[in-house]
Amino acid sequence: MEMACLDLEGVLIPEIWINFAERTGIDELRATTRDIPDYDVLMTQRLQILRQHGLGLKDIQEVIDSMSPLAGAREFLDWLRERFQVVILSDTFYEFAAPMMRQLGYPTLLCHKLGIDENGMVEAYHLRQKDPKREAVKAFHNLNFRVIAAGDSYNDTTMLAEADEGILFRPPQNVVDEFPQFPVARSYEDFRQAFATASNRLLRV
Ligand SMILES: [Mg+2]
Repeated sequence: MEMACLDLEGVLIPEIWINFAERTGIDELRATTRDIPDYDVLMTQRLQILRQHGLGLKDIQEVIDSMSPLAGAREFLDWLRERFQVVILSDTFYEFAAPMMRQLGYPTLLCHKLGIDENGMVEAYHLRQKDPKREAVKAFHNLNFRVIAAGDSYNDTTMLAEADEGILFRPPQNVVDEFPQFPVARSYEDFRQAFATASNRLLRV
């Protein structure tokens, strides 16, 4: 049996924080792990900025609800779900992803969770585990699934390495250079082809 594990942001939907910053005009929220490598420092700063601007979960979700999945993402995902058991592995939070999941037809999503206080403000974030994408692939291997994993950036590479087959989707050039072993897809048409090729290779092993 084959399982397809997909990253979410940059693969099916736009980067949530960057889009959120654009839509709200709050520039400080554009920072990513490229600017602040320590994720804990970055998230603490993000939550503080949200509080300063008086943005509670409801406001945040309204903004995210105005975003759309990437053009062609829903069709690609539907195609994939007809052929594989699909699980989305993401470093986002259920509360942020919810509006997008509705637009994608509620695929299975394994990610993290926020802590919301009684006033609806985000007061904390809870990471489910360390290196969760890789741990998920290991767990699926324990369940005797073979895994084809795909993602767009650095935080996907441990998942891709752990999987039987890894695919990069629209990655930045530094990731392409550093991980030449993974095929690169730049359109959903290429992406379908890459999954079909990977699946054929697994059948022959
Ligand atoms: Mg991504």
